[in-house]
Amino acid sequence: MAKLHFHYGTMSSSKSAQLIINAYNLNNQGKQTEIIKPQTDNRFSEDKVNSRVGISANATVLKTLDGYAPHPDTKMLLIDEIQFFAPSDIDALVRIADNTPIIVMCYGLMVDSNEQIFPASRRLVEVGAKLHRMESTCQMPGCMHLATHHLRFDANGRVVRAGAQIAVGDSNYKSVCRMHYNRMYYGKNEKTK
Ligand SMILES: [Zn+2]
Repeated sequence: MAKLHFHYGTMSSSKSAQLIINAYNLNNQGKQTEIIKPQTDNRFSEDKVNSRVGISANATVLKTLDGYAPHPDTKMLLIDEIQFFAPSDIDALVRIADNTPIIVMCYGLMVDSNEQIFPASRRLVEVGAKLHRMESTCQMPGCMHLATHHLRFDANGRVVRAGAQIAVGDSNYKSVCRMHYNRMYYGKNEKTK
């Protein structure tokens, strides 16, 4: 089994739910897991991973993974919102994956709402993490295309085309297909429906 995995998908592609279920199943088999999530600046960092489907799991909130030493009995390390960590944190995970028996599972986003890859996600690709795409459907009404992009909207429903990569919450985002992204991002401030 590969030692370092990256489960990526858009928002609302059930990444956190899969993380929680994965940990739950291992724990049921008597195998110890650790769940980590990033501490991000403008966001309340509750020490839980929460899924929209209504399940949650306890997590350790960390600013950096550099120097992090998992418990010797841990079989799997699961990290949520990996895109908010730094590339150097990915290198720390590589050391854990390659120098201990622990399997490292990362979950997060690949690209931001400006169609730019997150630095930590890029680093995961560079270091050869096994990639697993979690698929979901474009959130535009009636569209059944694969959601691959994020659109960010302001309070008036207009597309935001600049700004920080890091999201404060995600209520102003939609996961959309490439076609809708290109139409709305490069179009004339189309309003979301
Ligand atoms: Zn679409």
